[in-house]
Amino acid sequence: MRKPIVAGNWKMFKTKDEAVQFVEALKAITPSSDKVDTVICASPILLDAVTETAKNSDIHIGAQNMHFEKEGAFTGETSPVLLQDFGVKYVILGHSERREYFYESDEFIAKKVQAAFDHQLTPIVCVGETLDEKEAGETTQKVEGQVQAALKPLTEDQVKQTIIAYEPIWAIGTGKTATAADANEVCGAIRAKIASLYSTEVADAIRIQYGGSVKPDNMEELMSQEHIDGALVGGASLQAESFGKLLEAA
Ligand code: PEP
Repeated sequence: MRKPIVAGNWKMFKTKDEAVQFVEALKAITPSSDKVDTVICASPILLDAVTETAKNSDIHIGAQNMHFEKEGAFTGETSPVLLQDFGVKYVILGHSERREYFYESDEFIAKKVQAAFDHQLTPIVCVGETLDEKEAGETTQKVEGQVQAALKPLTEDQVKQTIIAYEPIWAIGTGKTATAADANEVCGAIRAKIASLYSTEVADAIRIQYGGSVKPDNMEELMSQEHIDGALVGGASLQAESFGKLLEAA
């Protein structure tokens, strides 16, 4: 039985006061971590405030990106050492916005995935197809390739601990959601690929989220699918009340 994991991706939203107020409000309604893993992924400049506010609660804090090097001349970047130092537990890697606007390649993302494990951070690895790729029938091939490349440097035990987020790019921030059946089919194909690369034991253990316009009114149906173990949520993670409803539905 895989424990659901619901992660909010705040992107470049929220001031410090708004972030602290959100975490305070969420603390009162977050389900116990026996039932669901709750993660909030904030901008690096908010991490100090949100990790402090979330202390001794069932809320885990994540980052939205990081560099793979421990330190160095990389202006504007955040190292895994700093994330660890701030008490961050998760890091989103390979989000489609990073792949598209910052030209992150599969190889570059794989280095970050390895660096995450080197610093006791759990990576949430995003994969997904564009609308053109979907229409050309290339979805499975695309996401399987992304999954294989991102997991390449890892041991089997690390693969089991990785979170994969299947996020069709055409569904992110658009209000269009993949049908629960379609999302489940792609998540099932990812699991089958992992079984063929590693073992059924690894494939049964790894948690796969769906992301793309998840809202309180579609969460329950998505979560009822065999291969969907949680959600990565943008827009609906910005209000504690709506995010709380997603956690409840998980
Ligand atoms: C995301 O940014 O990962 C995402 C899924 O956004 P939204 O929920 O707004 O589509």
